[in-house]
Amino acid sequence: MRIHAISTGLVRIKSSQVTGQGHGLRRRLAPLIDNEWTDWLPTYAFAIEHPDGVIVVDSGANAGLKRLPRWNPYFQFAVNFDIAPEQELAPQLRAIGIGQRDVRLIALTHLHIDHDGGLAGFPHARVLVAAGELAATAGVKGRMLGYLPQRWPSGFDPEPLDFTEVPYGPFARSRRLTADGAVIAIPTPGHTPDHVSVVVEDGETRVVLAGDAAYSEASLLSGTVDGVSPDEGAALATLAKLRALATERPMIFLPTHDPRSAERLARRECVALPVPAIAA
Ligand SMILES: [Zn+2]
Repeated sequence: MRIHAISTGLVRIKSSQVTGQGHGLRRRLAPLIDNEWTDWLPTYAFAIEHPDGVIVVDSGANAGLKRLPRWNPYFQFAVNFDIAPEQELAPQLRAIGIGQRDVRLIALTHLHIDHDGGLAGFPHARVLVAAGELAATAGVKGRMLGYLPQRWPSGFDPEPLDFTEVPYGPFARSRRLTADGAVIAIPTPGHTPDHVSVVVEDGETRVVLAGDAAYSEASLLSGTVDGVSPDEGAALATLAKLRALATERPMIFLPTHDPRSAERLARRECVALPVPAIAA
């Protein structure tokens, strides 16, 4: 099963968004006043060539994100996008021989604007989103949380990505996305309360398409909670479960904005957990 990591342009955010500073509301407001920007980071979308059809995990950014509404202080002060139309997901997939109609299913880790931005390129695909995530986009609160439902393709009506009570490693619930059970969604709350990640079982190795469950593999290993997560405890618990998953079998961990995600996928580079000290 081939997995493609497609970089859909660049984004930069504030350092305090990547590494949360302080706690509670103060931590979540820090990115608005922080002067320190990150380097320009990738926004990966992933395409899985499964025998049942191509599955896309997150649809990436789009060129329209270079112009964001100014009424939201986060858009005005804390994020910049650099992306041309040809860098959107659909034209990049077309260039490697994956057409619009080859994409059977799109699973969205969450609905932030750099994850749902490429949906318009796939009008024929089924789209799966956690019901709670979809609900969070509604109304003024959704707007202030940084969702842009007004930019969704007209008639956007995703199916709820709900979980069954079938455990997957340390995760109590999971959802098979393919009949053969090789592509599985797991709940990874933190960055948003209903954030999900997708695991691809590729032989003995698990490839985790992590969305924003962590901004990088380093954040996974250090247990760093970002400056966005409304519930720090939930985010920490998710990171602990993902690390526990990595102890079971080799695991390649691919966050959306980790500059090394594509390279780790190409090299099959697995998470290397620190070896526990042996008691004397
Ligand atoms: Zn996000």
